Amino acid sequence: MNAPITQDVLTLPRKLPDSARVNIIGLTRDQLREALVAAGTPEKQGKMRVGQVWQWIYHWGVRDFAQMSNLAKDYRALLAERFEIVLPEIVTRQISADGTRKYLVRIAGGHEVETVYIPEEGRGTLCVSSQVGCTLTCSFCHTGTQKLVRNLTAGEIVGQLMLARDDLGEWPVPGAPKDETRLVSNIVLMGMGEPLYNFDAVRDAMKVCMDGEGLSLSRRRITLSTSGVVPEIARTAEEIGCQLAVSFHATTDEVRNVLVPINKRWNIATLLDALRDYPRLSNSERITFEYVMLAGVNDSDADAHRLVELIRGIPAKINLIPFNEWPGAPYKRSSNNRIHAFADIIYKAGYASPIRTPRGEDIMAACGQLKSATERGRKSRAEIAAEVG
Ligand code: SAH
Ligand code: SF4
Repeated sequence: MNAPITQDVLTLPRKLPDSARVNIIGLTRDQLREALVAAGTPEKQGKMRVGQVWQWIYHWGVRDFAQMSNLAKDYRALLAERFEIVLPEIVTRQISADGTRKYLVRIAGGHEVETVYIPEEGRGTLCVSSQVGCTLTCSFCHTGTQKLVRNLTAGEIVGQLMLARDDLGEWPVPGAPKDETRLVSNIVLMGMGEPLYNFDAVRDAMKVCMDGEGLSLSRRRITLSTSGVVPEIARTAEEIGCQLAVSFHATTDEVRNVLVPINKRWNIATLLDALRDYPRLSNSERITFEYVMLAGVNDSDADAHRLVELIRGIPAKINLIPFNEWPGAPYKRSSNNRIHAFADIIYKAGYASPIRTPRGEDIMAACGQLKSATERGRKSRAEIAAEVG
């Protein structure tokens, strides 16, 4: 059957198998323009078409080309033939007594990652995963007991934000007054995986999230947490420009080698050198030093004093994280008294030292507890204990 040829449609629509369609989610503007042109969009219309499709998908949350009413019908048909708008799938959703939502999200290949939404007064933070598992083996981290299965694609990373907005009903309604409070107002790359070992996909995904004609999250509301992949830190400043958090967790190389083994590759001094340049390169204000409080391991007064000495001169905030225990974890959380005494020393040295309130503990949604269901129990407790000891 012949389809009518119109101005917009230079290639006749053909039925392509699903796998041959290009998923638009996660493509940067440049990639989308190239793909639209390759599908027959006239070169000179490319930029305009990107703008239109982009707004539909990322501003309005539309998933069906047929609804893109400012595009000619034939062009919509062409898009539907050649492209798809596919998000990962929510498999289960658990809601904690404190309102935290944990989503188990299935990505292509049947793998699963977790995404956590943490509602707060007047705002809300989405904790996004960047890998299935992690190549690193931080001894206090549940994800660290799971091997890396694969990197997420940019689409799977952006998709986590879009899924959360679907679930929270957060897409704008045409004609409704603009609501300035956003349910998902911030993103933290603190879910499963080491974002700087999946740099390109994370960068592209964050570019999509930051785009002002779409999801529109400012770079100041995005925080990337790294265990300390030193060679990628300057690139993060230059190519993403988001806020940086670093999993510091220890004040001597001896202890950090055990807690955050990447320290054997890039030690504390090397890491601090890279961090010193970050605020200038990224034009951001300060770096967050994450410090997990482990009883008897890294929580002494001497540690607190060493910590403030080490970071002197770096604009910083120190985020104390009470250890979130998981079944078989080889550590215990420091006592509240110890955490407060530690915080006090830091505060008196002139640093903000908020103690992170654990959220969603009843559903194992707290920081560092995430692990994909399919991979649970891959390493035995004995194996973990052997690595720690
Ligand atoms: N891979 C990145 C980001 C994911 S982890 C990184 O390591 O920074 C996000 C934060 O949670 C990190 O600071 C990590 O060290 C911390 N974390 C991991 N396991 C934890 C646990 N069981 N309790 C508290 N914090 C934990
Ligand atoms: Fe990986 Fe971060 Fe967990 Fe370390 S703390 S194992 S880098 S996810």
